[in-house]
Amino acid sequence: MVVFLRKLQALLSLRDDIPFDKNKFSLIIKTIAKNSDIVEDEIKDTNPDLEVSAFLNAFVKPRAKSRERAGWRTIANLIRVGVVFKQQTLQTTVKNINAIDSNPGLEEKLKSIDRYDFDVFELNEASRGKPLYVIFTYYLRRFGLLEHFNIDREVLHAFLREIETHYGYNAFHNSIHAADVLQTFMYLLDLIGMIPFLTHEELLAVILAAAMHDFQHPGTTNQFQILSSSDLAITYSDKSVLESHHVASFYRVLQQEKYNILKTLSAKQRRQIREISIGLISATDLSFQGSFMNQLQAVYDVSHGHIDLMSEKSLVLKLCLKLADTANTSKPLYLHFSWISRLQREFFIQGDKEKELGMDVSPFMDRTKCNFTKCQNSFIEYVTYPYVALFAKCFKEAAPILEYSKQVKEYWSNSVVVSTFEEVEQMIRNELAKVNKVVTQSHLGANTSFNTTPREQGTEE
Ligand SMILES: [Zn+2]
Repeated sequence: MVVFLRKLQALLSLRDDIPFDKNKFSLIIKTIAKNSDIVEDEIKDTNPDLEVSAFLNAFVKPRAKSRERAGWRTIANLIRVGVVFKQQTLQTTVKNINAIDSNPGLEEKLKSIDRYDFDVFELNEASRGKPLYVIFTYYLRRFGLLEHFNIDREVLHAFLREIETHYGYNAFHNSIHAADVLQTFMYLLDLIGMIPFLTHEELLAVILAAAMHDFQHPGTTNQFQILSSSDLAITYSDKSVLESHHVASFYRVLQQEKYNILKTLSAKQRRQIREISIGLISATDLSFQGSFMNQLQAVYDVSHGHIDLMSEKSLVLKLCLKLADTANTSKPLYLHFSWISRLQREFFIQGDKEKELGMDVSPFMDRTKCNFTKCQNSFIEYVTYPYVALFAKCFKEAAPILEYSKQVKEYWSNSVVVSTFEEVEQMIRNELAKVNKVVTQSHLGANTSFNTTPREQGTEE
């Protein structure tokens, strides 16, 4: 381990583009050499030079960050990845992720998985409706979790097929959204430097929570469940009805032996993963938004703007998942327009149900009064923009996300009224053309044949 770190130190000193504090790194190496029980045979049958070079290329990306904030985080990241070096396949980035379900067309799409403007709709097309399967597997492999927990590949395959097929038969709350939230969430954790502070158990828990956070979504809101006295509202006593339902549905799948990807873990590890995933999924209830903003502001004030990721880990993970969940309002316009087209379709189906049940139709859900502009203006102005602005104040690395959020906000505040799906479709086409992207059915908000359910296709699984 020490040999590896020394090689890394030498190579880093040659790279001007990586924030690197030589004095701190030397201190860390000395401390590890003196106190650690990590033995050098962790790397005994490997070539340190080759591995260090591969490591640098695979995991250390030059970033335009302030050196002041990046210093310790970068070092912590190096140390952690160094410690789990044996479990990580350094060529993970693209080559090995398809071992479970080979599809060469995915390789190209996954090259941009570390980018905020990652296009999940393209991945949905390339994976033929299995974006969650691909992204979930990608992160398990990237962080060496398959090997670390000895997860059975066949069980994982069965689990992911089950989850993806039954995620939610909705225009918005489906496995594309889950894949999008998982990718954005992992991007955010990496952006603010949180990943080095997570244990293997925590990493598995956060990946699972993001992936499952809307599992078996009925396509209607918490308010609808409560006001219609739905079975779900009765089961969960009107409290975070959907979020409780997502967790319960996910664990019912895990209860089945053939889908239980956690069966090789100890009872203690399973307990920890359950606690973290329940906490994270529960936090996605939008009614807690104000409370979370107050907590973040308080932590920011107490820490004078330097939030300690280790001591505030639980809160920061929840904040990042919440941000990822509504990040479609702070993404490039071609992605944002695609998402709102899908969301509006889902809203109108709820509006139709409300009419059928003789209920008042919820705001923006009446298809006879379609107004994308008013709907987006309200949601962005009062819900998502203030949240992104506070997050970017607390985590300076998130400044580019705030810029996207401003762009979307300005678009709608200056927009003439958009009131038809045809207009939105043209907006999607125009924005995709600006970035030289091919228009797909997934971008246009239509569920393609591979996203429909076996039931809809008239076949039995
Ligand atoms: Zn969601």
